[in-house]
Amino acid sequence: MSAKTEKELRVGNVVVDYPSPSVARIRIGDPQAKQSILDEATIAALEKVLTRIEAQISLQGVILAGCAPGRFLAGADVKGIEAVSDAEAGRKLAERGQALFQRIARLPWRTVAAIDGVCLGGGLELSLACKVRVATDSPKTQIGLPEVQLGILPGWGGTTRLPRLIGLPKALDWILTARRADARRALRDGVVDRIVAPEGLDAAALEAAEGKWQSKPRSRPISERLRDGTSIGRAWVARVARDRVRQQTGDRFPAPFAAIDVATRGLALSVDGSLALEAKAVGELVASPICKNLVRLFFLMESAKRQGDRERAAAATEAAVMGAGIMGGAIAALLAEQGIATRLHDSRAQALDAAVARLRERLDRRVRERRLEEAAARAVLDRFQPTPDGSRLGKPQIVVEAIVENLAEKKALLTKLAEQVPESCVLATNTSSLSVTELQSSVPHPERVVGIHFFNPVEKMPLVEVIRGAHTSEEAVAFACGLAVRLKKTPVVVADCPGFLVNRILAPYLAQAAALLREGLSISQIDRAAVAAGMPMGPFSLLDEVGLDTAAAASRVLTAAFGDRMAAGSLLEPLLAAKKLGRKSGSGFYQYEDHKKGSSPAPDPQLSSLLGIPWAASASGPKADLLQSAPSRLLEAIASEARLALAEGVAASAEEIDLACVLGFGYPPERGGPLR
Ligand code: NAD
Repeated sequence: MSAKTEKELRVGNVVVDYPSPSVARIRIGDPQAKQSILDEATIAALEKVLTRIEAQISLQGVILAGCAPGRFLAGADVKGIEAVSDAEAGRKLAERGQALFQRIARLPWRTVAAIDGVCLGGGLELSLACKVRVATDSPKTQIGLPEVQLGILPGWGGTTRLPRLIGLPKALDWILTARRADARRALRDGVVDRIVAPEGLDAAALEAAEGKWQSKPRSRPISERLRDGTSIGRAWVARVARDRVRQQTGDRFPAPFAAIDVATRGLALSVDGSLALEAKAVGELVASPICKNLVRLFFLMESAKRQGDRERAAAATEAAVMGAGIMGGAIAALLAEQGIATRLHDSRAQALDAAVARLRERLDRRVRERRLEEAAARAVLDRFQPTPDGSRLGKPQIVVEAIVENLAEKKALLTKLAEQVPESCVLATNTSSLSVTELQSSVPHPERVVGIHFFNPVEKMPLVEVIRGAHTSEEAVAFACGLAVRLKKTPVVVADCPGFLVNRILAPYLAQAAALLREGLSISQIDRAAVAAGMPMGPFSLLDEVGLDTAAAASRVLTAAFGDRMAAGSLLEPLLAAKKLGRKSGSGFYQYEDHKKGSSPAPDPQLSSLLGIPWAASASGPKADLLQSAPSRLLEAIASEARLALAEGVAASAEEIDLACVLGFGYPPERGGPLR
């Protein structure tokens, strides 16, 4: 053993220095790389470094930190997870990380995680093995355990240590929601011990490592001790958690149930015993097809985010949005939130007022929930500029038009805009059904016109279809993709065909639902079949949400272009004639007025007579065969249209179509996508 501390030690991308004679600081990661992950090389380097550190008996503290400001640890190497093909190999992978973190947990000194930047998955598990966690209040700092989203559970000690640190219910909440919390939330929940400004992190970590700052030990109320410390208490927490998972995703994903099981049973065991449960569960999950599908989607999303001209998009400072309706108002808000001064124009003053009111309400709520600083909310409002005079658009780098879905009006607007804004300005249309080629045909320099199709609700829906018209330039497509990424959306480039990609693929699914209805199933039976297949909601509920008028308009366009395989429209017309437009009018296929919150709405009482289908609202007689085949028929309708779209080159690859279906309408991610 060497009693002397060393000056500086470097093994691979792990560097040790000594901010004071009794404190070693281990910095992890390559400052030149975009982010730091715990890949094979880093783990091996950490193992070697720890062997040296363990021998330095004159130490009193050890700090674990990232390699540069704003860079902590983004987690394990997902490629490593992808490569595992059997449960035994998966278990061994978990055990390797666990053993490393156990060595950190067993160091006899004050160990401090100094967190600035993303601290996810393995990054948080490493921090949990330290005795103290100090995090910065930087917006870059995000703390969480996202493993269940990849079909596994935190298997490097996270499922074992987090319940011991913050109690079982809160730990399960973090693990099951895969929450990415900021430092304030993490402090409130007890996941970190102290928050400091980024420039104060080094000093604060040193204070903790030297014992000059100590975290107050958390007092455990008697109720918590009874709950987490008794088998009856733990069983109750587990049951509540399982019920919640079932409500949200049924029994489709095994990982959340495994996490509940390991966290609950593990709490009754020693740390080593619990880690063994964890490793075994990870092994079983990691080798499953569900995990492989989720990991593939993760990579597809990552690669979609690298698309486009992100440099040009990052340089954008000014934008304009035309039309302040549901879509335009939300798109303008998104641009303003991402730092772009955005003028929002509408021909109706009330529409502008309503858009401002919606944004204010949203920002206020986020401030109230302490998810946004007041100053940041004010800055967003300053950048969001309602502009009643449509000729005063400044010098935007992009204009997004989101006025009514009318070809003549959109063409007139785009032509006028082309004269008004600099030639370098990209003109984007948010049309959901018109041809971008047709829209750009009368615009001078049509190469700058591109489709940017956001989905409703804009704040929530992660996908953006970027539509290349016949004259659209590569630059305009690249800028649109880059901008979508800046707005934290996932872009998929699609061809200019009716329905583009997502609505086109969705239409035969709705037509298949109509066919099942005519053959004898009720709307509720069909909706349940779709949910059983993994769809987030059934086709008739979806139609009611979209609005039957909007859906009928889309159906007309698609049926005219592709024929009867898209035809769900004939079901919609009788309801439209009766002024039933779906949820927004209080009634559609289902009745929304007077229905109790929390209960499912009942089919509209007039449905059967309006459609002339006696069993539409409630099916009679046994229909076992039909019921059994319904889920696969619904999914097959999606898959067969996806194959046609691929063959026609609507998107560049099967992967992009899979991603668009998962993000665009919630195709069950555990299946990987319709072309998987
Ligand atoms: P909306 O009716 O809510 O809003 C349209 C707004 O445009 C209205 O406020 C109207 O006053 C304004 N407007 C009309 N003509 C104008 C003009 N010449 N100049 C300025 N303002 C004008 O419509 P929406 O649902 O927000 O849809 C807007 C666009 O987005 C449409 O092209 C639609 O197809 C597309 N879209 C809608 C959805 C959706 O679910 N609502 C989804 C994707 C795309």
